Amino acid sequence: MASGDATLGDSQAIRPGTGAAGSAAPNAALGSVVSVLLPLPLGGAYDYLAPEDGTGLQAGDFVAVPLGPRDVIGVVWGAAEGDVAAKKLRPVIGRLDAPALPEATRRFVDWVAAYTLSQPGSVLRMAMSVPTALEPARPLRGYRRVSAPVAFRETAARRRVLAVLAEGMALPGPTLAREAGVSSGVIAGLVGVGALEAVALPPAGAFSTLDPAAGPVTLSDEQQAAATALVDKVRAPSFGVTLLDGVTGSGKTEVYFEAVAAALAAGKQALVLLPEIALTPQWLERFGRRFGAAPAVWHSDLGQSLRRQTWRAVALGEVRIVVGARSGLFLPFPELGLIVVDEEHETAFKQEDGVAYQGRNMAVVRAQLGDFPAILASATPSLETIANVQRGRYEILNLPNRHGAAALPKVAALDMRVAPPPRGRFLSPMLVEAVTESLARGEQALLFLNRRGYAPLTLCRRCGFRLQCGNCTAWLVEHRFRHQLQCHHCGHAMAVPPKCPECDAEESLVACGPGVERIAEEVAALLPQARPLIVTSDTVRGPKAAAELVRVVLEHEADVLIGTQMLAKGHHFPDLTLVGVVDADLGLSGGDLRAGERTFQVLHQVSGRAGRGGKPGRVLLQTYAPEHPVMRALVDGTRDALIALELAARQAGGWPPYGRLAALVISGPDAVAVDQVAAALGRAAPRGKGGRVLGPAPAPLAVLRGRHRRRLLLKVDDGVAIQAVLRAWLAQVTVPNAVRVQVDVDPYSFV
Ligand code: ADP
Ligand code: ZN
Repeated sequence: MASGDATLGDSQAIRPGTGAAGSAAPNAALGSVVSVLLPLPLGGAYDYLAPEDGTGLQAGDFVAVPLGPRDVIGVVWGAAEGDVAAKKLRPVIGRLDAPALPEATRRFVDWVAAYTLSQPGSVLRMAMSVPTALEPARPLRGYRRVSAPVAFRETAARRRVLAVLAEGMALPGPTLAREAGVSSGVIAGLVGVGALEAVALPPAGAFSTLDPAAGPVTLSDEQQAAATALVDKVRAPSFGVTLLDGVTGSGKTEVYFEAVAAALAAGKQALVLLPEIALTPQWLERFGRRFGAAPAVWHSDLGQSLRRQTWRAVALGEVRIVVGARSGLFLPFPELGLIVVDEEHETAFKQEDGVAYQGRNMAVVRAQLGDFPAILASATPSLETIANVQRGRYEILNLPNRHGAAALPKVAALDMRVAPPPRGRFLSPMLVEAVTESLARGEQALLFLNRRGYAPLTLCRRCGFRLQCGNCTAWLVEHRFRHQLQCHHCGHAMAVPPKCPECDAEESLVACGPGVERIAEEVAALLPQARPLIVTSDTVRGPKAAAELVRVVLEHEADVLIGTQMLAKGHHFPDLTLVGVVDADLGLSGGDLRAGERTFQVLHQVSGRAGRGGKPGRVLLQTYAPEHPVMRALVDGTRDALIALELAARQAGGWPPYGRLAALVISGPDAVAVDQVAAALGRAAPRGKGGRVLGPAPAPLAVLRGRHRRRLLLKVDDGVAIQAVLRAWLAQVTVPNAVRVQVDVDPYSFV
């Protein structure tokens, strides 16, 4: 299974089909011994005897098999792999009545496993995330009134149930209980006395039929040209990646909707990946207008029963369009014909835990395995994607102008060295004035600070003691509204202590630096007429809260939004004309490889919230380094010059996208054991041409959730098969059970 060693996005180098799942021709019955992959971290597929009922198993079939004393469900991966004598093998228990896992999905599982150095079973587990979906849909039971009158003892609760069912319809038990405000016992009682009867309900039509022509949009010439190019690719169809590079508000969404409509019209399924899907009610609304109904959504907050229905409906081809988070890539689409990755530069597409994969890159792999196009959309594409365009691997379509009357906002730097805020404050007088002016015109302002809570650090004025998390190498963040100190890494929370835990001084603890709550306090003090609203993951949880936020802003119930990254993207608020960035330098410290790139991306995105309607927008960046290339690019609108500068620096240093990285994080509860493994890996580090190892070194988060952490970074030249180097390296070191070595190929996080 060497397929994962390929260089991403290089169509020459991706060699799908060498994994086991690729070896069986679709629908060919296999022999008397089959290999079955189980959704468990077991190292590979196991061989089983096929049942002797003559039906024959096919690759992709879901089967129950014995594993030790247990029965588990797995997937027939292909013909027998091992050389165990047939008489020693145990038989498959039976085939499940579920649609087979499509071949492209199976090959994708193999590919991701090989690329990320994960167990194929761990990856399969992601493709089988809803085991109950493998059972045929149970007919839903409902209750309705019996038409013939019966005598029974009436109670208020019983009367409420009968009132809810007055019109003669049947309702599922839980719905009925909720609407009548009764327990399920009351319903059972009414069935018992013969006043209600149970009936089978037709399956819920949760997934509406979409219409590619429901709400067409008149595109501008520029948009139309891009849309036509994408539609042609969808109709072709064959693998290819296109970067849709358009400024914020240029109509990228409308343009890729045309490609989605083309996929729908061609009888294909389509997948749109969005970061933080649950939080973009405006996107869903636009989708509804364009296609006449809502898409199926897929993300981690989905309820269990909807997950189950969605997974099964995707597998059966009943769902045609899914919009979701990165895990949507592992859904069992039988007819996928397009993947769109919106905001492709977002690091939210990178999964750090478990199987560490980059969703955007794996979307490209999935498209190649299915031989259909992928679209990556962004106003601030990642350097990886730009480099792929420059190398001729990806095509590019440009949308250089905002749609309609809207113009891009004017961006200016506020030099905090020249016009600092007064002591103890964080907003410069010029920014405060600009907010005042906007409000006077009846417009809205957004103050951006990517820090939740009140203050990132609390220290003792007398002894200098800093309040730290007991489980992590991290300061505790004060959340003043909740009167708490919180660790943003492990969730540990405690009340703010009345005195310094170190020197016992009373009232000596002071908050250092601002979080959004502190900025809101400052706004309230300086602009008493303003109606501030804090928007963070603490205040806006889930789709309902996000929809409410949109309503509050559109109806002008708030006029100064103070928020984190959550406010930076997706939202379209026509009357929002001013964006103030409280600390534009915040993301630049820390020495992360992508610090400059990311700071530009997030500040550009948040700037893009200003002036999206007819009124001109303005952006003010509070900075101590206005000469920094990132600030200059934001102010002068010279994104491409910054990209060229960053790419040159990456190339000179051999960093991605010109070299490749893999991180090893060694962790465990015992620092000595962790250090031993880290040192052994350091001694065994691959040397020689084309690669070198940095570390071991304590991770910046040297302790996380009570586990000690050390890091090593492998850096190889472009074109070196990094997986092979990693495998050979890891094979030399024995790792005790209490120590974990996490492999992260193409790491994005260096903490
Ligand atoms: P982007 O994704 O590039 O930031 P959007 O697709 O969100 O841009 O478009 C910005 C705004 O302009 C949205 O409100 C969208 O509905 C509107 N818009 C874009 N193109 C058109 C069009 N051709 N006709 C009508 N409205 C459009
Ligand atoms: Zn912690």
